[in-house]
Amino acid sequence: MPQPETQTAAERLDLVRTALARSAALGGRKADAVELIAISKTHEAGAILPVLEAGQRSFGENRVQEAEAKWPALKALYPDVRLHLVGQLQSNKAAQAVALFDAIHGVDRPSLVTALAAAMAAAGKRPDCYVQVNIGEEPQKGGCAIADLPGLLDQARGAGLPVVGLMAVPPADVEPAPYFALLAEQAKRHGLDGLSMGMSGDYETAALIGATCVRVGTALFGGRR
Ligand SMILES: *Cc1c(COP(=O)(O)O)cnc(C)c1O
Repeated sequence: MPQPETQTAAERLDLVRTALARSAALGGRKADAVELIAISKTHEAGAILPVLEAGQRSFGENRVQEAEAKWPALKALYPDVRLHLVGQLQSNKAAQAVALFDAIHGVDRPSLVTALAAAMAAAGKRPDCYVQVNIGEEPQKGGCAIADLPGLLDQARGAGLPVVGLMAVPPADVEPAPYFALLAEQAKRHGLDGLSMGMSGDYETAALIGATCVRVGTALFGGRR
């Protein structure tokens, strides 16, 4: 794992990209088959700018309000930024999320599908949607149960949401690979190509198993307060 505090943003980005490319190659895929999403939550514009300057364009935030405060100004400087929402989304923030984000990774319940469909219809903008799965069936975690996935996907597709894949956060402190494999299996079963999985501690494993995007915060920005 890189030592975030002692390296420049460009060096950290280079390390993560190199490791990602290696894992993708081992998995028989091209380096650009895995999108690196730099998770900039809690970090201020001053910490994000060097990462933008180093060429990174996909970023992720987990709170709509925080993203609204930081990103319009940064997007004015770098209009080709792609912004991902990776956290829990409250239905009453659906319209704001649709307006600001290019992809939404936390679609996990019927009421949110309904809210997002209405927001997309009103805005005439359709961010990519990932359905979040509670892959370890952990009561404290977001995501729909595997048993509820077929119904939620039917509803989301019927409502016109552009569902591109599945997203999950595996249980902490256990080997993540079986959970990544389980998510990949579910995506395949439902005809979905997108797999949003892997964070700072396990993005190489995720890329090896077929992730199409990894969500990396700490390894790029250092620790969060
Ligand atoms: C914060 C966060 C990440 C990034 O985690 P790191 O361990 O800092 O890389 C990834 N995914 C989600 C959903 C997050 O909330």
